[in-house]
Amino acid sequence: MKTIRKLVEMIRQKMPLKSLRLRIFAIVLVVGLVPGLIVGMGIVQNYEDRAVEHRISTVQNQLKIVANHLISNDYMANYRSEEQVYRNSRAVVDAELEMLSNLYEGRVMIINSNFKVVKDTYGISQGKIMISEEVIKCFRGESLSNYDPEHGYIEMTTPIMDTTANSGEEVVSGVMLTSISNGSIVAMMEMLNRRVMIIETLLALAIVVLAIVLAVVMTRPFNRITQAIMDVNSGYSDESISVPDYAETVHIVDAFNQLLARMRALDQSRQEFVANVSHELKTPMTSIKVLADSLLVEQEVPAQLYREFMEDIVSEIDRENRIITDLLALVKMDKKVQDLNITSLNINDLVELILKRLRPIARKKDVEVVFESMRPVVAEVDEVKMTLIMTNLVENSIKYNKEHGWVKVELDADHQFFTFKVSDSGIGIPEDALAHICERFYRVDKSHSREIGGTGLGLAITKSAVLLHRGTLTINSVEGEGSSFVVKIPLIYIVS
Ligand code: ADP
Repeated sequence: MKTIRKLVEMIRQKMPLKSLRLRIFAIVLVVGLVPGLIVGMGIVQNYEDRAVEHRISTVQNQLKIVANHLISNDYMANYRSEEQVYRNSRAVVDAELEMLSNLYEGRVMIINSNFKVVKDTYGISQGKIMISEEVIKCFRGESLSNYDPEHGYIEMTTPIMDTTANSGEEVVSGVMLTSISNGSIVAMMEMLNRRVMIIETLLALAIVVLAIVLAVVMTRPFNRITQAIMDVNSGYSDESISVPDYAETVHIVDAFNQLLARMRALDQSRQEFVANVSHELKTPMTSIKVLADSLLVEQEVPAQLYREFMEDIVSEIDRENRIITDLLALVKMDKKVQDLNITSLNINDLVELILKRLRPIARKKDVEVVFESMRPVVAEVDEVKMTLIMTNLVENSIKYNKEHGWVKVELDADHQFFTFKVSDSGIGIPEDALAHICERFYRVDKSHSREIGGTGLGLAITKSAVLLHRGTLTINSVEGEGSSFVVKIPLIYIVS
């Protein structure tokens, strides 16, 4: 009992119910075994029907011959006559009947028109009256047969037709009631059954072996995929995997390879990002250290120089601060969309407020800022992120502008989107830099941007914020002439 339980447990562990291997095994087993069993049963059943049919027709034929002899020997009329002639002819017919009943292990009774049994090969019912439904039907000319497999006999009635009557018509002058044993048929069926059983057992064994082999072979590619993924997972290999056995495995492997490529790209961009962040954070630190060191080395530093150096140190600390603030903003942007705080906002008011804040900076750089609103716009946006988008774009246009330049801010809307456009008369962006402008820490001219105080994160933040609002950012620029940034955002925020 214990060993069986252990075996079942082992099979369950190797083949859990949901396993494809178990399903293939079960399907092959069912498809292979069921038709075999049905065919086997059909063969035996079919043999029985045919054998009974054949036995009935053979016996009926024989009985008909005996019936003819009965008539020709006038058996029915003279069955009691003691005359030598009749006794002799009766003996011939009786012998025929005995032979018949011996041959088919049966009993034959001859019943005359008075329903009297004139002959019983068993001798039991001779002289008795026998009225049954079958006998009556048979007197009407119907010859009947009935197979009773439970009691193991076939019963049949055969009319004894007399054609010698005066009228010339056929008259039923008696009935032969016969019952024969089905022993030989049963014996044959038992033998057939044994053979069918042997064949079916061999077939079942072959099918079980086939089912196991198929289940193992057909699921092997899936095991190979698992192994390959585990190899990648444990770091043995970082190449794309390939299991081309089935179209399905190719699809799974393709999807996995795409995921792998994405993860590698993500990992690489993360590494680059960390390297860039370290570098950017280190630069102001290095400057601060150089400035502080040079103050320390000097014995007597004039107060004026001391002050100048301290001012430089403060400006480097400010820069470090800006980078960290931008980085934090970017990290927040990477968070989930659910973190958006969407409210219905008057965009015209928001733009006015932002421009009011930025105008002093523009004035310092002698840049004129104009605002053109085509219509009042109300949209569902996150106020903080929308402020970041607009501030970054307008600030950039002021920062990267020329003396006496201009910045134009336009606001328009249709029934679906609103557009916020910032164009400037600034230094412009070279064509080859346009594709990279939104990358983290990308700056067209590092030294120039540093002078201006940029961190290279502004447009990356802007782009992320626009995408969070399911909007688009389009940049056009001609180097030396100016740039335009168009932000298009849906008026209604649809939660997916
Ligand atoms: P930064 O903090 O350096 O301004 P951004 O991501 O905002 O970083 O911008 C990336 C780079 O794109 C800038 O360094 C600058 O070279 C260029 N750029 C951005 N806006 C403009 C503009 N309006 N005109 C010209 N160049 C621009």
